[in-house]
Amino acid sequence: MSGQKTSATPLSMQIAQNMRDRRMLDDARFGRPARPQVIAVANQKGGVGKTTSCVNIAAGLAMGGLNVVVIDSDAQGNASSALGIEHSAGTPSTYDVIIGGMPLARALQPCPDIDGVRVCPATIDLSGAEIELVDLPKREHLLADAVREFLSLHREVDVVLIDCPPSLGLVTLNVMVAADQVLIPIQTEYYALEGLSQLWSTIERIRRDLNPRLHISTMLLTMADRRTRLSEEVEEEVRRHFPGLALETVIPRSVRVSEAPSYGQTVVTYDPRSTGALAYRKAALELSLRLEAPLEAPPEGSGVRIRDDD
Ligand code: ADP
Ligand code: MG
Repeated sequence: MSGQKTSATPLSMQIAQNMRDRRMLDDARFGRPARPQVIAVANQKGGVGKTTSCVNIAAGLAMGGLNVVVIDSDAQGNASSALGIEHSAGTPSTYDVIIGGMPLARALQPCPDIDGVRVCPATIDLSGAEIELVDLPKREHLLADAVREFLSLHREVDVVLIDCPPSLGLVTLNVMVAADQVLIPIQTEYYALEGLSQLWSTIERIRRDLNPRLHISTMLLTMADRRTRLSEEVEEEVRRHFPGLALETVIPRSVRVSEAPSYGQTVVTYDPRSTGALAYRKAALELSLRLEAPLEAPPEGSGVRIRDDD
């Protein structure tokens, strides 16, 4: 019989799913936090999708009508590039805000392609900040003070997303002290959970000593390859270890996502109909609904522990 001929192929199923996602996203009502939320996008591992997630979630939130500020705190300046933002040496930047006491508003540039996103770029100057910070008074609080002052004057802002460098040094510490919550991108690969317990205990320590508001609110599985069993296994493991933290939306590995930055764009603007763009818009929608109706904070610690038994 011709059953095989008429059955849907994976490609046609994907196309149909993308159409449903587009319709859903165009009609969706995004959530808006009651107060501006500062979200650190952090993981001390490099190459797990921090920057990609930061810029694409920023774009997705802005498309949903939120007012977003992105602070690039990685001297590589990849988030600045991906958002089409000038970040040559000497440009007013995160370095000036942290080290030079520049008001955050003075370093912000509007993102040329996305209404509702402003960016504080990172320049190469920031690579010296780790050493310069050591001798400064209040060295852990410099970014937090700048962000607090900015938000007190700019009530229109809904979300501040801060792209972190792949380390747990003084710049990341400044970000964590400035943040309300942490979003951890996790690459769905074999060593995905390695290093997470160190990140977890660092965040616990910062919460105890420097910033009682800080908590891990969200995990995002990135670069998933649906054709392999490994991606699924990592996803299952993350959901089992950290119940409720990972967004339902999983970001697939996609060439479009990795191409976009070379055009100074997010995938959301570069190829809005692609599977990767739709995934990031869905992740942004989910995140926005969590921001609007946050879970009650567990009384002690973050309420979630890394289990050592398996
Ligand atoms: P990090 O900021 O954690 O170092 P990046 O966001 O820069 O990680 O991502 C690392 C590399 O992986 C980059 O080259 C990026 O373009 C690529 N990448 C990220 N997410 C995806 C994806 N979903 N599909 C394909 N490539 C991706
Ligand atoms: Mg990065």
